[in-house]
Amino acid sequence: MKNDPSSRLSNRVLEMQESATLKMTQDARNLRAQGHHVISLSVGEPDFDTPVHIREAAKTALDEGHTRYTPVSGTKELREAISRKFKRENNLEYSADQIVVSNGAKQSIANLALALLNPGDEAILFAPYWVSYSAIVGLAGATPVELKASIKDDFKVTPEQLQKAITDRTRMVIFSSPCNPTGSVYTREELESLADVICQHKQITIVSDEIYEHINFQGSHCSMGTIEAVREQTVTVNGFSKGFAMTGWRLGYLGGPSDIAKACSKIQGQFTSGANAFGQRAAIKALEADLAPTREMAAAFLQRRDMMIGLLNEIDGLEVNIPQGAFYIFPDVSAFFGRSSGDKVIENSDHLATYLLHEAHVAVVAGSAFGSPECMRISYAASEEELREAVRRIGLALNNLH
Ligand code: PMP
Ligand code: GLU
Repeated sequence: MKNDPSSRLSNRVLEMQESATLKMTQDARNLRAQGHHVISLSVGEPDFDTPVHIREAAKTALDEGHTRYTPVSGTKELREAISRKFKRENNLEYSADQIVVSNGAKQSIANLALALLNPGDEAILFAPYWVSYSAIVGLAGATPVELKASIKDDFKVTPEQLQKAITDRTRMVIFSSPCNPTGSVYTREELESLADVICQHKQITIVSDEIYEHINFQGSHCSMGTIEAVREQTVTVNGFSKGFAMTGWRLGYLGGPSDIAKACSKIQGQFTSGANAFGQRAAIKALEADLAPTREMAAAFLQRRDMMIGLLNEIDGLEVNIPQGAFYIFPDVSAFFGRSSGDKVIENSDHLATYLLHEAHVAVVAGSAFGSPECMRISYAASEEELREAVRRIGLALNNLH
């Protein structure tokens, strides 16, 4: 049934939420175009350039004529390089034909949802979750089931919570570690205790989104797929956007059981075909070259995290956790709800994000988009100077709320 009989648009799009991260970033751009000095801490995008050796590899690939369609799942060379990477860095065994390269990890997740979920199925999301998970699950006709963790639990769900949320209709569990938006990192022990629950339900596929694996301040990244009990139930999603500062290249990938990889490739073959050919050549370089630039970026993020925590802790009313990875801080801002500025009452995190954009000219994303309306997400993928100025402005604007 149509939501709006006068609309020519499908229910699918009418019911879908627009990406809050991308919307806020566009709102910030619009305000900037009007001449305001807006600091955008909304989009999750490294502020670094793609390392030179990767850019050079793309130029060479263009000159060598890598400009045609590739196989839908990606070139054999890139899939073999990803297979080696999985083994070398994650201790995961995926052969090249268990790997599908896509136009970003976002597409990998969309392929999985379309390949694995039927209308009426349930997909459990560990909340706070990355914005697009719930929209993608909804597009597949399935129901997102949010499993909520708060700042007091370091934003991590427990096996008991998970056990309670599983029903006969649960087909998927999706989470990211390091997590967008909280920066929380699940330890091996924590993943094992979640795996103990999931392995009792063989109909469930785990989507382990590891796109922030290289931005991990606690040192060791654990891939869910290395836990024997759930190895055959796990699909590992990763990409080049974060660890290699390649957001605009649109390259992501997954490794998983053969039937799932095949199904994802089948879907992709009717949507977009293989990812861009010369980008795939450069991606091999990214994986096989020295990771020094990646480590340098991660070190810079750690320094900024510490600076941000120091600065944000000086603002009364913000409750801040210490993220162990990614490049976001996700403070609890609920102390400001009910306060007002003039005749504007801040009732929730959406109001607060809009208020900060217009009053402080700082773009952040409301926690509601991530399933945690009591929080807001601040990306610290910006220069130290911008971050200092942004927090100064946020502090002033919040102090003006009474
Ligand atoms: N997963 C998470 C957790 C993310 O933050 C992002 C951000 N873009 C993606 C997946 C998708 O990344 P991309 O499509 O750029 O590879
Ligand atoms: N993943 C990033 C974010 O969370 C990029 C924008 C998007 O694709 O949502 O901001």
